[in-house]
Amino acid sequence: MSKNPSQHVSPVTLEEVREQMRDCRLCRLCEGRNTIVFGDGNPHARVMFIGEGPGKNEDLGGRPFIGAAGKKLDGYLAAAGLSRDDIFITNVVKCRPPSNRNPRPEGIEACAPYLRNQVRAIWPDAIVCLGNFASQFILRTEKGVTSLRGRLYQTGHFVVLPTFHPAATIYHPAWEPLLTDDLRLLGQWLREHPKEQEIPVEQGVPRGQEIPASQAFSQGQEASHE
Ligand code: URA
Repeated sequence: MSKNPSQHVSPVTLEEVREQMRDCRLCRLCEGRNTIVFGDGNPHARVMFIGEGPGKNEDLGGRPFIGAAGKKLDGYLAAAGLSRDDIFITNVVKCRPPSNRNPRPEGIEACAPYLRNQVRAIWPDAIVCLGNFASQFILRTEKGVTSLRGRLYQTGHFVVLPTFHPAATIYHPAWEPLLTDDLRLLGQWLREHPKEQEIPVEQGVPRGQEIPASQAFSQGQEASHE
């Protein structure tokens, strides 16, 4: 899924973001980590997935979503017509919170510039927020994912899908069909909005209408999916 590079010139590359993080010590999560889990996948992805934070397996393996939650996620991707090769996946915080506790505001804030730069580098068309932390960060809301899910939002350039974290469906199997429905909705949007490369130039969005990355995470509005 490569994109037309003329549509967006990223101010930063993924490798530069990796370099910025190097031996990050901006918050106390660095004290307990084995590895910084940067993120993984297609650097030209149309869809970026954002989880919460690395778990034990990810902390040891250095890659996101390689444990039980990752296995669950792989199962849901097909509902959107996607595979791991199509997406880039990362987390709100890049280091494992001790005993898998929730990330804290200071850790989220410290890690935020890295996540924003990853989004700028990849410049996906759509962002899938897995769980409350990613949804609240990207949509700049305090609402929970239960009330946010089930629809797409437009924040600047990006279409955003807030949905349940796949790990949550391990404990709440009743949420499985809801997560599947959400990813089907994304799949429908992707089909209805083919990648820019496939749109004839005369139908493309005029460049001047693109919203600068600095304004990209404004309060979400619902995206149209006519
Ligand atoms: N849960 C997450 O949110 N991220 C991971 O990388 C693994 C589990």
